[in-house]
Amino acid sequence: MATIGFIGLGNMGLPMATNLVKAGHEVLGFDTVPETLQAAKEAGIITCAEAKDAVGGAETVITMLPNGEIVLSVLNDIIPACESGVLIIDCSTVDVDSAKQAHALAAEAGLGMIDCPVSGGITGAAAGTLTFMMGGSEENCKRAEPFLDIMGGRQVPCGEAGAGQAAKICNNMLLAVTMTGLGEALSLGRKLGLEDQAMFDVMSTSSGFCWSLNNYCPMPGIGPQSPADNDFKPGFATSLMIKDAGLAQQAAEASGQSTPLGYQALELYKQFAAEAPEDLDFSGIITWLETKQRG
Ligand code: NAD
Repeated sequence: MATIGFIGLGNMGLPMATNLVKAGHEVLGFDTVPETLQAAKEAGIITCAEAKDAVGGAETVITMLPNGEIVLSVLNDIIPACESGVLIIDCSTVDVDSAKQAHALAAEAGLGMIDCPVSGGITGAAAGTLTFMMGGSEENCKRAEPFLDIMGGRQVPCGEAGAGQAAKICNNMLLAVTMTGLGEALSLGRKLGLEDQAMFDVMSTSSGFCWSLNNYCPMPGIGPQSPADNDFKPGFATSLMIKDAGLAQQAAEASGQSTPLGYQALELYKQFAAEAPEDLDFSGIITWLETKQRG
């Protein structure tokens, strides 16, 4: 049994930490929201009044936080309280620069670190089937594996510091493009009088095959269960997709790479978010595209 400090017990962090508890580890947790801490307590996590209390005595620290600024601020807070040799696994999705700064902070204090964003959403977090994209030394990736095995089904070493975040950003830029393209294709099909089921049956088994359609179909009652069957409640919220697609554009700008479709998908998501009644699942963009007239 290991002692693990877990900071950030939100939609993703709580089920991930809960799986570590179920596997027999001692998990000390901290979150800034009292209701979240209460839910964590009920799940068997030892809750702490401050972030630094959750890391004293821990040999591994996991963070699952909203953005790079918060990750760096939490690391500045907890690193002095960490015992020597601790491994920090940051599972948050953040920009590559912040990830590299986080590695530098850990290295200065003699601690191990990997950036380790995830794919698989809240259902994957609950089921323990997340995919982890690891950035950092081979040794630190190996040290993280026993814990990642419990929370996920697959770990991919992507390269040195920041490489996990780079992989995550590229993947989610493509997801933004495929989901908006799919929304357009399905909306056009409906306008042309095609039944949803017929479109799914054709496209899911032909060259239109993609994860967005086959695994996360944005048409209710068609294909596997998805947020479309629950009025587009997230799932993966549009605000998070805007964050990830924005990070991709930031990285494209910094590296000088042209990504016109990634740019356009981000713009479409921003317009959808501005006109949507609430922060719907990102696949809900089909409902917005359907209301648009050709200009
Ligand atoms: P969330 O907002 O539900 O959880 C974040 C938690 O961090 C919240 O509980 C918040 O109170 C806590 N927090 C904020 N500042 C803090 C601080 N200073 N100290 C301690 N706790 C603090 O978000 P989430 O959906 O769990 O996402 C977490 C990360 O995972 C994000 O980076 C997100 O982009 C990424 N992610 C989310 C999904 C998804 O489907 N939700 C999928 C993949 C990756």
